[in-house]
Amino acid sequence: MSNRTLNLDDTLYDYLLTHSLREHPEQTALREATRKHPHGEMQISPEQGQFMQLLVKLIGARHTIEVGTFTGYSALTVALALPADGRILACDISDEYTSIGKPYWRRAGVADKIELVIAPARQTLDARLAAGGAAHYDFAFIDADKSGYDGYYERCLQLVRTGGLIAFDNTLWSGEVAKSGGDADTLALKALNDKLHHDERIDMAMLPIGDGLTLARKR
Ligand code: CA
Repeated sequence: MSNRTLNLDDTLYDYLLTHSLREHPEQTALREATRKHPHGEMQISPEQGQFMQLLVKLIGARHTIEVGTFTGYSALTVALALPADGRILACDISDEYTSIGKPYWRRAGVADKIELVIAPARQTLDARLAAGGAAHYDFAFIDADKSGYDGYYERCLQLVRTGGLIAFDNTLWSGEVAKSGGDADTLALKALNDKLHHDERIDMAMLPIGDGLTLARKR
């Protein structure tokens, strides 16, 4: 027995997946298709997706934001957890990558829940704020360019309601954040992690799931 988080070896990770995953067939299919993509490592892990589905249901989310959609697995996953009138504002700059996910969204019956906006996310979020979107959203998932995280955070913190949740992907960054120095992405994540740790505007937790997932609840 150990009171620190287990270091999952392949056998235990396989056990975790085979004893907990409840993927929709279209999730499995999109995840498999994305795995073969040259940037397939950017996709979130399935157990992380299922955890986010649980979070979305726990807080009763209807209006959500995603910054960084890639091939659309996380959007599909969250959309499946939303009620019929739930919506995702999905922000990405790549028409090419996001187009991969669209047929899966359609076949899973959630395409109508996903509003994809192809533009720099800061611009899209600023437009929502200008249109009176502050405190309109329940949940935001930030998983895009790491140097942009802080800018996305500040905007999402305005866009989500009190008690709403912001989730940041890759906050452990393959362990790079624990080493000295690093490239621009690593330094940006380190600065963000330090900021979130002491940010009085939120309650927070950093979880060693996937590549590190930090949860911030707006106070
Ligand atoms: Ca990611």
